[in-house]
Amino acid sequence: MQFRDLKAQYAALKPEIDAGIREVIESSAFILGKPVTELEERLAAFTGRKHCISCGNGTDALQLALMAWETGPGDAVFTSDFTYFASAGCAAVLKAVPVLTDIDPQTFNMDPDSLEWQIQRVLKEGRLKPKAVIPVDLFGQPADYDRILPIAEKYGLKVLEDGAQGFGGAIRGRRACSFGDMSITSFFPAKPLGCYGDGGAIFTDSDEEDARLRSLRAQGKSPTDKYDNREIGINSRLDTLQAAVLLVKLRAFEAYELEKVNQAAARYTERLADRVQTPTVLPGFLSSWAQYTVVFPDREARDDARERLKAAGIPSMVYYPRGLHQQEAFRSMQLPDEWYPNTVAMTGRVLSLPMHPYLTEEDADRVCSLL
Ligand SMILES: *Cc1c(COP(=O)(O)O)cnc(C)c1O
Repeated sequence: MQFRDLKAQYAALKPEIDAGIREVIESSAFILGKPVTELEERLAAFTGRKHCISCGNGTDALQLALMAWETGPGDAVFTSDFTYFASAGCAAVLKAVPVLTDIDPQTFNMDPDSLEWQIQRVLKEGRLKPKAVIPVDLFGQPADYDRILPIAEKYGLKVLEDGAQGFGGAIRGRRACSFGDMSITSFFPAKPLGCYGDGGAIFTDSDEEDARLRSLRAQGKSPTDKYDNREIGINSRLDTLQAAVLLVKLRAFEAYELEKVNQAAARYTERLADRVQTPTVLPGFLSSWAQYTVVFPDREARDDARERLKAAGIPSMVYYPRGLHQQEAFRSMQLPDEWYPNTVAMTGRVLSLPMHPYLTEEDADRVCSLL
């Protein structure tokens, strides 16, 4: 059994994907070819944003967004403690300071009360300027924007949605990657919409930000003269080959994959709800199930379950084994565990199960019976 079965997906889409790849090779337009423009248009339409700017990966997308807001030394950038490193690393690499918040133990997403507490702490300390907040749509469910957006507005913070895992999710029909001032996603192969290598995209409704981001992803070039750079940018483009793959996969995602992954999640929840804490999807929210993560009563029960699955040849993952505040790279910030009780508790109790649109009912049932 695969944790995320990309081979089954390829088997289902092979003729179209092979044809798309062949066309790119025959055209020789490997960089910023027509499929890239077409994909950007389709993604903007899907998410409901005015602009989509593709780039090399989700990490670059976060960094480019912060660069477009001129984030740097002296700025505080708030994000969740329980996420992939890039959500906070993007601020640190620009010499801004990532400020970490605790999470809601039901949804695993940023706890808005912890966010406000951290903003007030930074203001009281007076050393940093609160600049932006990066809510993460963890495991496929959008963060609690109903509560986070008003807090951001109250303190004058920009909002950058980290939708690397959230693509396809929604709140009351409004799709992920449309919340806040800018959003990003990642096309890393295991994400809800993945390519065959690295890829990413940024979303905005602002024409100025769109132009700035297109310049920043091309070394800061001027829009009219490629060899006259107006500022310092980076080199981060989506390959035409990846765009061709994504165009096929996006069609399948819209046509049936998102629905099928939700059916697989419902089957797990139905069979597991009286054994473990199953994922909470808030009323009106839709998840794209980047991960299906259950919570055990304690570390021992979690590790036991993981061993049992492993012995039966079933892969599972611990997302995440530690909070960002516990990672070596951020140790010098000396963030106390007491600020992150829910993150610390969850790192010892969570387990993510095989989850993808091609998961068969038999496989799901096998996982459940072992738990
Ligand atoms: C995967 C991921 C990223 C980074 O995306 P890459 O394409 O791997 O650079 C950022 N944030 C979150 C929450 C992620 O899961």
